[in-house]
Amino acid sequence: MIKYVFLDLDDTLLDFHKAEAEAIKKTLRQLDIEPTNATVKRYSEINLSQWKLLEQGKLTREEVKLRRFEILFDELGQVRDAEYARSFYEETLSHGHYFMPGAEALLEALFGKYDLYIVSNGTTAVQNGRIESAGIARYFRKIFLSEAVGDVKPSQLFFERCFAEIPGFDRDAAIILGDSLTSDIQGGINAGVKNCWYNPSRCAGREDIKPDFEISSLDEFPILLRRL
Ligand SMILES: [Mg+2]
Repeated sequence: MIKYVFLDLDDTLLDFHKAEAEAIKKTLRQLDIEPTNATVKRYSEINLSQWKLLEQGKLTREEVKLRRFEILFDELGQVRDAEYARSFYEETLSHGHYFMPGAEALLEALFGKYDLYIVSNGTTAVQNGRIESAGIARYFRKIFLSEAVGDVKPSQLFFERCFAEIPGFDRDAAIILGDSLTSDIQGGINAGVKNCWYNPSRCAGREDIKPDFEISSLDEFPILLRRL
């Protein structure tokens, strides 16, 4: 029987890619750089590569936030203030939200039946703004943001610190749902809890990170939970 459900936020409940694309376009315009589709896509790739380095402990969060803009401006051959870009971008990103398909229905279906928690590696100010703007805080017993927790998914320490804040926690009765193999699924494996990969675009998996379960649509998740 599952009692504790840990949900990733970005690209599991909220559509981060859409929000990110809007925020980066506004930021580039603010800096007098035309936000072409290619530039927006490249920013997204750079951002992802930098967050992976954070997951691997090779960069700090503050370095990630600045480096993604420094790298982009270098590639574009533009001289701009990366610190200003970081601050404008985060401010923009923290306002507004887009739900992933079926996310609101999922929260309604799980609420009251399971104890729900958010586990997210995003920036505290940005994530709190997006959670508030989406009006979803009321569904969760606790919201664990890595910046406040002091470690990041997929580290075991991140999850141990979360578990320590849940009275009577039992890892056999827990599951994590997320779209990232490297942070959510590897995190579940490291923490010794069941894990479910949300894979809406049906990407190929990885040989080295095998999820316990996989869904391509959020409405499959409550059905899976009833089975466990
Ligand atoms: Mg995610």
